[in-house]
Amino acid sequence: MKLIYDVLIVGSGVSGLYCALNLNPSLNILVISKEDISNNNTYLAQGGISTAKGKEDISVFIEDTLRAGQYKNKLESVEILANESIDNIESMVNYGLNLDKINGEVAFTKEGAHSVNRIVYSKDTTGKAVFETLIEEANKRKNITLYEYTCLTDIITTNGKCIGGIVIKDQQEIIICSKVVVLATGGIGGLFKNSTNQRHLTGDGLAIALKHNIKVKDINYIQIHPTAFYEENSESRKLLISESVRGEGGKLLNKHGERFVDELLPRDIVSKAIFKQMKKDNREYVYLDVTHLEDKYLKNRFSFIYEQCLIRGTDITKDYIKVAPAQHYFMGGIEVDLDSKTSMDNLYAVGEISCTGVHGANRLASNSLLEGLVFSKRASNHINENIDNIDISHINYNEFKIDLLNLSNKDIVLNEIKSIRGDLKDELLAN
Ligand SMILES: Cc1cc2nc3c(=O)[nH]c(=O)nc-3n(C[C@H](O)[C@H](O)[C@H](O)COP(=O)(O)OP(=O)(O)OC[C@H]3O[C@@H](n4cnc5c(N)ncnc54)[C@H](O)[C@@H]3O)c2cc1C
Repeated sequence: MKLIYDVLIVGSGVSGLYCALNLNPSLNILVISKEDISNNNTYLAQGGISTAKGKEDISVFIEDTLRAGQYKNKLESVEILANESIDNIESMVNYGLNLDKINGEVAFTKEGAHSVNRIVYSKDTTGKAVFETLIEEANKRKNITLYEYTCLTDIITTNGKCIGGIVIKDQQEIIICSKVVVLATGGIGGLFKNSTNQRHLTGDGLAIALKHNIKVKDINYIQIHPTAFYEENSESRKLLISESVRGEGGKLLNKHGERFVDELLPRDIVSKAIFKQMKKDNREYVYLDVTHLEDKYLKNRFSFIYEQCLIRGTDITKDYIKVAPAQHYFMGGIEVDLDSKTSMDNLYAVGEISCTGVHGANRLASNSLLEGLVFSKRASNHINENIDNIDISHINYNEFKIDLLNLSNKDIVLNEIKSIRGDLKDELLAN
């Protein structure tokens, strides 16, 4: 079976959907998701979205992002992220995103390594609010088709150009003929036994890039979040205890109830300190304490975390929360330029699977949703300007043999990560 679209977008998270919405409405767009349309990391985001608070904050925001990234970031990308942050947040608000307010003004919270409060949020379920806003808008657009439970297994290429993708839907293989493909396949957390990510996100976009010798970058930069809820013998996705809990005063304690680290240092440093403390204490967790904060405040500000911990037997208003580090985010990925173009013509990568260089070696908290917005919008602009020059009408898609590889996409990425990050094997990798 064959279907023809102008643009195929693989992924229905913030970057895939925002890219679709910013494409010219005259373009015929297909957005696919491997599982249920809302099953993505975007939906899980809790803390919020970073943004420059105004012109005067731009240089400070840039410096905070560079410092957290250990100055391994690409400066031009960081400048774009900060400079274009305000406009993109405004666009989201115009689509209907409901941000928390204090006295009628948008509220800003703080997270680790930000020198000022500059994170906008929607309670502690910002990602759900972002996803719902985008999908509602996408559903209104006649030029956007959404297919759930549809998995991209490979892209189709000719003469070094991408001309579509092969997807499996209802156990049937479908050839998608498209002028442009946008990979928005999210992170790689599904490869780890301890991860806060959706289990089906196993870096499929990265595997496809590796298969086709498309440039990839910084594969060794994998972020371990300091505080995931500890559950003994659980193989499911780990519940994230957002950094904003520490931002709002949560304290990390050892088995004697003593603090052992500055909770607001960058994530990699806090994670290392926790691993060290766990060894010292001979335990698989440390404690996060918010019992000194007011019950009413906790239940309102962190209602999701409060409820989810309660379901797991911990009342955060009274009990210490058992936490341990878990894989959380992938800073590396498919190398892209400032318009999110990959090294292959007519192939773009956006969101967590791309490497814009914004995050360097360590992502500053809440910069991921923002990167998804800023750089997928830039991808859309570039596609809008160039798509008329792409012609696939002469291509006979029946000529392409489907090259089914022995290794699954999951194994390709797992092997690559293992070869680069041998240190993660014992602690976190799935096998
Ligand atoms: C628990 C948690 C909390 C977080 N909190 C924050 C926060 O507060 N602020 C922040 O900025 N960031 C946060 N992040 C990170 C942020 O949510 C993600 O990095 C971001 O949402 C990724 O967006 P995305 O569009 O790249 O991918 P995702 O939203 O993960 O979407 C990936 C999509 O790709 C699809 N897909 C994958 N492979 C295939 C395939 N082969 N075929 C078809 N479809 C495929 C999936 O089905 C899915 O639709 C958090 C992450 C987690 C896990």
